[in-house]
Amino acid sequence: MFFRKGQVLRIDLMPARLFTKTGLLTNTMKKKIAILGSTGSIGTQTLEVVRNNGDVEVTSLAAGHNTKLLEQQIREFCPHFVSVGDEKDAADLKARIRDLNIPVYCGMEGLLRVAEDPESELLVTAIVGMIGVRPTIAAIQAGKDIALANKETLVTAGHLIMPLAKEKEVSILPVDSEHSAIFQCLHGEKREQIANLWITASGGPFRGKKREELQNIRPEDALKHPNWVMGSKITIDSSTLVNKGLEVMEAHWLFDVSFDQIKVVVQPKSLIHSMVEFVDGAVMAQLGTPDMKLPIQYALYYPERRFLPGDRLNFWEIPQISFEKPDMETFKGLKLAYEAGRRGGSLPTVLNAANEWAVSRFLSRQIGYLDISDCIEDCMRKHRVIDHPSLEEILQTERETDEMCEEWFRSR
Ligand code: NDP
Repeated sequence: MFFRKGQVLRIDLMPARLFTKTGLLTNTMKKKIAILGSTGSIGTQTLEVVRNNGDVEVTSLAAGHNTKLLEQQIREFCPHFVSVGDEKDAADLKARIRDLNIPVYCGMEGLLRVAEDPESELLVTAIVGMIGVRPTIAAIQAGKDIALANKETLVTAGHLIMPLAKEKEVSILPVDSEHSAIFQCLHGEKREQIANLWITASGGPFRGKKREELQNIRPEDALKHPNWVMGSKITIDSSTLVNKGLEVMEAHWLFDVSFDQIKVVVQPKSLIHSMVEFVDGAVMAQLGTPDMKLPIQYALYYPERRFLPGDRLNFWEIPQISFEKPDMETFKGLKLAYEAGRRGGSLPTVLNAANEWAVSRFLSRQIGYLDISDCIEDCMRKHRVIDHPSLEEILQTERETDEMCEEWFRSR
């Protein structure tokens, strides 16, 4: 048997309770979900999947500052309550929906309320950044299954989340396309028979360039991903290959494999979403057009497959599929992520927090493109690693990393 409870579910491990929760009885029952980050790229695509299928009830939503879009979502999906970024957003939203009787919360309190929503069975974590850690833990503690897009949470707190999910018997269902691909390839397989996981990478918009050529990259250059349309933070992370590093750590926690068994291969067209190599040399791959609605829908209805409207791969029009080794010297964020993952403890939190700080400063044009990985490296070198950090220690490490970043910024 492959998946343990508390990791990702396999059909023959699924208790009866989950058959009602995961969609096999959808003809008679509506699945109930809550979403953190409903106004973002993953959030809006999740709601598109809900709209297309018509048999999912949205019980609560959380967004940040986009109150205009949230208002539209409230009117269409009728959640019981919602949460927004701060009090100003809450006042704005309340004015917009004054004709409706829907409670509006804000800040971390609101995120926790949505995460623990007594009406929901499954939480989609489509919020960006490690602000998702506390709500995700709260949701698992409340017994919710998790459709996990928010990779920063597993990167920083995987050692707390995976055992907790096991204890509470909840499923962590991957939404990230690479992890969904691996999850699909592993269906019915045994974990002991995995030789390697091959995570594919597009290589981003600067594939093939050397460090000297990246000196003057501006946010608008880095925001042009060759294959995927995503939120701004993950798009920058994809260009620096830090995203691939976060995915390596995410795969380590989701599939319980060592870092030596997780390889990254560049496949520029993003047709192969990832692969699993088994001990007998067989390689299983999942292919498809770059459309996040597929992994989102797979997570919402697992283990059922549903029709998904959209383009299909046309193999007669694909003359070749090429592969390359990633350039970890130019894109040293990936190398740093392997180092942080292998060392573990609080070091992945430092990498992640420094990256969040640096990406936001790069987007606001306060630092250069190459500064992102330099800042991460500087913080990692200065940090004294805490083994097996508690939630409080993770959040404290995040605060300390922000201070280290500020110090690095001042001393440049
Ligand atoms: P976006 O930036 O598009 O969306 C982020 C969402 O989080 C928005 O709804 C935003 O609200 C909300 N948000 C941000 N900060 C806060 C806050 N402080 N409080 C409440 N809500 C907040 O991100 P993506 O959808 O691209 O990514 C979301 C997660 O999914 C990330 O972890 C990413 O790595 C992961 N992921 C994304 C993929 C993609 O294709 N986009 C693919 C695989 C993984 P608002 O806009 O209203 O301010």
